[in-house]
Amino acid sequence: MGRKFVVGGNWKMNGTKSQINEILAFLKQGPLNESTEIIVGVPAIYLDHVKSNAPANVEVAAQNCYKVDKGAFTGEISPVMLKDIGVNWVILGHSERRQIFQESDELVAEKVSFALSNGLRVIACIGETLQEREAGKTEEVVFRQTQAIANKIKDWYDVVIAYEPVWAIGTGKTATPQQAQEVHQALRQWISQNISPDVANSIRIQYGGSVTGANAQELASQPDIDGFLVGGASLKPEFVNIVNARQ
Ligand code: PGA
Repeated sequence: MGRKFVVGGNWKMNGTKSQINEILAFLKQGPLNESTEIIVGVPAIYLDHVKSNAPANVEVAAQNCYKVDKGAFTGEISPVMLKDIGVNWVILGHSERRQIFQESDELVAEKVSFALSNGLRVIACIGETLQEREAGKTEEVVFRQTQAIANKIKDWYDVVIAYEPVWAIGTGKTATPQQAQEVHQALRQWISQNISPDVANSIRIQYGGSVTGANAQELASQPDIDGFLVGGASLKPEFVNIVNARQ
């Protein structure tokens, strides 16, 4: 069974309304490969604007949301609110959330579970730090992060996993296609053994970390890489080339 290629843009905390309109203009101009699913992760304050102005084949994602539907959680956004304005996706567990905002495996898993139960689709991010990679702990870390989510959810149908080695994010140091493929393959095998062979076959695993128009095609040719989560390059017209990287 083929897994549909899925490319996410993670704009992070970037963009004014006029800069966002420029991004929307190059997305509209495309052309965007129709067989690729495209999702842009937008700062919360602009979600409604982008939702109203993005091309029809570009889905919109929040970059975070909380684990309950409403209440005294100043500054947080609820999955119910996202659904209310027509947003169907959320990025959860990004390494910046884990590192800067101290989100634990447990909290990320609770957020994933609650988002799914409210009908959101989730890009769940995992990945090791440089220190962990150098200590030979890459697999241990990505398996642990995935296990935490597996402890809280049963249905993986609406989940995309983004494998993003932290040392590759925003650094210009992309994992080589072989390094990325190795982790994706090991993770798929782990999922087969610890979740189910069906989930392993169907779940899409994106690679993220310094993906550019120049390196996307070779990465996209790896059998276990099913798409990308793109930070810096998603703000630039080269994002179109990344969307179109799978031949
Ligand atoms: P980058 O970010 O493409 O700028 O490395 C990727 C991400 O953080 O999702």
